[in-house]
Amino acid sequence: MLKKYIILYLALLSVNYSLLAQKRPNVVIIVSDDHAYQTIGAYGSKYAKTPNIDRIANEGALFSHAYVNNSICGPSRATLLTGKYSHKNGFRDNETSEFDFSQDSFVKQLQSAGYNTAWVGKIHLGEKLQGFNYFDVLVGQGTYFNPVFSRKEGRELTEGYVSSIITDKALGWLDQQESTEPFCLVLGHKATHRTWMPDPQDFGKFDSVDFEIPATFYDDYASRDAAKQQEMSIDKDMLMGYDLKMFPTLEAMMADGNFKRMNPEQRDKYIAYYRPIYQELESKKLTGKALAEWKFKRYMIDYLNTAESMDRNIGRVLDYLEEKNLTDNTIVIYLSDQGFYMGEHGWFDKRWMYEESFRTPFLMKYPGKIKPHSTLSAKVVNADIAPTLLELASVKVPVDMQGKSFVHVLNKPNSEHRKNLFYHYFENGEHAVSPHFGVADDRYKLIRYYKRVENWELFDMKQDPREMHNVYSDPSYKNIVKKMKKKLLNEIESFDDQEAKAIFLTDIEN
Ligand code: CA
Repeated sequence: MLKKYIILYLALLSVNYSLLAQKRPNVVIIVSDDHAYQTIGAYGSKYAKTPNIDRIANEGALFSHAYVNNSICGPSRATLLTGKYSHKNGFRDNETSEFDFSQDSFVKQLQSAGYNTAWVGKIHLGEKLQGFNYFDVLVGQGTYFNPVFSRKEGRELTEGYVSSIITDKALGWLDQQESTEPFCLVLGHKATHRTWMPDPQDFGKFDSVDFEIPATFYDDYASRDAAKQQEMSIDKDMLMGYDLKMFPTLEAMMADGNFKRMNPEQRDKYIAYYRPIYQELESKKLTGKALAEWKFKRYMIDYLNTAESMDRNIGRVLDYLEEKNLTDNTIVIYLSDQGFYMGEHGWFDKRWMYEESFRTPFLMKYPGKIKPHSTLSAKVVNADIAPTLLELASVKVPVDMQGKSFVHVLNKPNSEHRKNLFYHYFENGEHAVSPHFGVADDRYKLIRYYKRVENWELFDMKQDPREMHNVYSDPSYKNIVKKMKKKLLNEIESFDDQEAKAIFLTDIEN
C-alpha cells in the first residue's frame, strides 16, 4: 500500500513539474545594432516602414523612454546579459575590454531553471560563450556578405546575406526544441551597423524620397566643447568610398574589403546599382553644403535599405512562432544595442548621452500579460531587462544585479519606474568622443566629460529638447546644477562607480 502511494506521489510530482516547465514563458530577444528609433514606423518615422517590428508594438508595448547605460555595441550587450553596468560587468569599451563569460547572467539563471538557451548572430563579446546550450555567433563585427560564424566546433563561412542567414540559423535551432522545455533565444542582428550594406533586393526603395535635413544638421556646437571635437560628422568624417560606396574606379571599389569577399553575383548587383550613382555624382561636381546634403541623403538611403531586410527577417521569426502555436507563451523583445544619429547635430554614430544615442528602441510583447498596442512611458534602462525576464520566468533575481525589474509597469501606461538615469561612456578612441558620465531626470540632464575634455554640461530638456544650449554656467541655473550634482552623486554611489566618484570628488575639492 505504502509503495503504491509513493508511486502515485512521484507521478503527481512529475506531472506538476512538467506543468510548471510548460508554464514558464519562452523568451525571444532580437537585438539589432545601431538601429535608430527615428527610423522605426511605430516610433513615428517619417520615411521608414517597419511593418514587422511594428507588429511587436501592435501586439504588445512600445517603450517610449528606454535608455542604455553606455551607448556602444559590446558594452550594451554585456549589460543586457548581466543586468549590471559596465564598471561592474567589466566590459567598458569595444577597444580594450574582454568579456568575462564566467560571471553570472540572466541566461545562466534561466539555463539552471531548465531553459534551453541560445545566442545566434552578432554578440560582439568574443567566441567563448558560457551559459548557452547552443551558439552560432558572428566573429567580431561580422560582415554583411558571406559572414564567418563561430560555434563550439569552430569557425565556418556561410554564403549569403547576413540578416537572412542569422534568421535561418535561429529558426533552425528553434525547430530542434522539444515542446516540453522552455527556450531562450537571443537573435543578434548585424544590421544596421556601419557600413550599411543592403540586401540587393532592397536597392532603390528610398531613392526618390526627398529627405528633410534635420533641424540641427548644421550645429556649430557652441557651448559644447566635446561635441566640437568629435569625428562623426556626415560632412567631414563619413567616407565617400568605405561608407557610401563611391569609389573613383571600379578597381578601387573591388579592393575594398567589403567587396573583396563578395561572390561574382553579389558584386555584379552592387556594381550595377552603385556605379551609375557615382557617375551622376561626378557629373554634378558638388561641394560644400550641397555635397554634405548629398551625403546625408545617400546615408539615409543605404541605412533604410539595410533595415528592410532585417525587418522582413523579424517577420519570419514572428510568423514561425505563430505557425508553431508558440505565440501565447513566448515573450518577444525587440531592441537595438543603442540609438543612433540620423543627421541630428550633423552626425552618424552613437556614444553620447544626448537623446538620440542615449535612448534605444524597445518593444515587448507577451500575450495576456501586456496589453496590445500600449505605449509605456516609464523610464527603463537595458540593465533592467535581465531581472525583468527572470521575474517573468519565476526565477529568483540574483542580488548583485543592478537592474530593477519593470514587470510592475507592464500594464500601467502611466506608472513610473526609474526617477533618474545614470550613464557612463568609457571608450576613448574611434570618433573622438570624450568619455563622460551623467544623470538625467524628468527635465534636466547633467554631464561630466573627462580625459579628452574636462568640463560639465547641463541641458534643460523642456526649453531645449535638442540639446543645443549648455546652461551649466548660466547663473539662473545655479541651483539646478547643485540639485543635479546631488542626484548624480546619489546615482554614482548607488551603482558603486568608483571611477566616476573619484572624478566627481576632484571637482568638489577644487
Ligand atoms: Ca551598436
